[in-house]
Formats: sequence, C-alpha cells, structure tokens
Amino acid sequence: MGSGVGRADVDGAEGGGGTAPPQQGGAEVRPAPEGVGVRPPQEGAEVRQFWEGLGLPGLVDVHTHFMPERVLRKVWEYFDAVGPLTGLDWPITYRGEEGERAALLRQFGVRAFTAMLYPHKPGMAEWLNGWAVDFARRTPDCLHTATLFPEPGVASYVRRAVDEGARVFKAHVQVGAYDPADELLDAAWGVLAEAGIPVVIHCGSGPAPGKHTGPEPIRRVLARHPRLRLVVAHMGMPEYEDFLDIAERYGEVRLDTTMAFTDFSERFAPFPRRALPRLDDLGERILLGSDFPNIPYAYVHQLHALERLGLGDDWLRAVCYGNGARLFGL
Ligand SMILES: [Zn+2]
Repeated sequence: MGSGVGRADVDGAEGGGGTAPPQQGGAEVRPAPEGVGVRPPQEGAEVRQFWEGLGLPGLVDVHTHFMPERVLRKVWEYFDAVGPLTGLDWPITYRGEEGERAALLRQFGVRAFTAMLYPHKPGMAEWLNGWAVDFARRTPDCLHTATLFPEPGVASYVRRAVDEGARVFKAHVQVGAYDPADELLDAAWGVLAEAGIPVVIHCGSGPAPGKHTGPEPIRRVLARHPRLRLVVAHMGMPEYEDFLDIAERYGEVRLDTTMAFTDFSERFAPFPRRALPRLDDLGERILLGSDFPNIPYAYVHQLHALERLGLGDDWLRAVCYGNGARLFGL
C-alpha cells in the first residue's frame, strides 16, 4: 500500500534523540477502532484457553521482537509517529520493561519465542548479534536469534553466530533497504542453507513497500539457494499469493502468520479468500508469528484471527505449536 508509512515494523533508529516514556497498556490518546490497542483484563487466561482447548502444551511464536532497549524505544517512537502522519493508527499494546514482556509471553504459555532484531545500516548487525547472544543466555525460552546485512564480512559473522548457537535469523528487506539477492549476501545464504537455520524474512511490501520488497528478489535468492529455509514474515503481505507460489515451489520455504488475518491488517491488506485452500495444503509450513510486543491489538486477537479462518483444529495445532516445535527440535 502506498500510504507512505515508511519503515514500518521497524527501526526508526535513525533520527531523533530522546526516548519515549514507558507506558502500560496501549489505550492511548489517539482514537482507534474498537479492540485496537486494548488488552482484555483476563488476557493470559484467554490465550491459555485457546491452546488448552486444542490440547496443546503451549504455543511456539517465531516472530517476537526483543532488541537492545534503546533500539526498541526508537521503534516505538516510530510507531507513535505513524498514526498522526498517515492515519494508520498504531498504538503499541505491550510497552514495558524487557523482563515484563518476557514474563507476559510465559504467562501466555509461549514455550519458545524469538528475538527478531535487524540492522538498518552497515556495521550494526554484529553489534546486534552480540546483544542477542547475551539475551539468549539470560532467556532460555528464547530461540537464540541473529541477523545480517549485505556488507563485507557478513559470511564470517553469520558463521560465527551459527557456531555460537544461533537457531534462527531475521532479515528485514524493507528496513534494511537492500536487495536480498545482493552478491554480498550470497555466501551468507549458503552458510544458512547448509546449516538448515531458518531465516525469518520481512520481504513483502506491506505495510509499506521498499525498493527491494516483493517476490522477485526472493525468487532470485532461492534460484541460487533452493534449500534455504526462508520463513516469509507476515505471510508475504500484501503479495500473499506470490509468496504462496514460492512456498509451493520450494519445500523449505515457510510463512509466518504475523499480523495476517487480523482486523487491523484486513483493513489495508485483506487475505484473498480464494487462497484459503492453499493455506490448508501448506499447513505443515505455516508458523505462528505475532510481532509481540509491537502490535496495535491484544495478543489473543492473532489467535482468534487464525481460528476464524475455519481451517480446523488440526491446522491450528500444527501452526500454533507443532510446526515450530518440529522445525526447532523442541
Ligand atoms: Zn516484526
């Protein structure tokens, strides 16, 4: 969509100095559609009721954001600015200290989650990876996450991260404003393909397009690395069907549900109903993702949005737990 949202899901890490004051809840000053940014009083119980009802031991959420506090504050400042600038109101529902946010995921029964972090410029990925090593050490239920950027030395720091135990990578084509098929990344993709490490990649053009977003650059990457375990974030929003094509062609490609199917996203990037049978067929390769804490609605809404697709309990069990547990050997 062409709203000029800019670098959404994001960094915001350039520009501006101060840090936003921590705020609880999310019901903020700006008016928002019903349910947006509002946490139900019993939300922990509601989330647990969802997975208990399916007979699951909990949830695996492959798309949650933890990053150095200063960077996260910048991200929040960015989302705070989005509403007034564009009309796409984005009140962050889960502000709070890092420990509180991790505790909340545990309260929800999220058995494994990630620390999606990503650079917007060269020379930043290694620093983020260093932080992520420490975070994974102090947060045993977080799948040790790392990131990368097209720059000299990327293959060696990616290999080092793998050697240090990284279990998932994050790449953000829109925020990084790079071509994922850039030659500088070729050897790094090779390392990750060979190691079988999943890479959650924000490569769709929603909520804001970038110079290199969309399916074409990803097709070029996969033509060279057909076994690369890309996890297409946000179901490839809004190019859902192009990314489903890609997943159907490449058996190691997966998609995460992050923000897809929610009331919020359906307003500007509705998932085409005709593609529902394809979601069913790809049920083994769709993974629960939420974008916690940077979401403008309650966590449980993502779960209900999946449920109302009507693809059945087996599909929900696979998406919300089984597929992630298998992929990460939990
Ligand atoms: Zn995200």
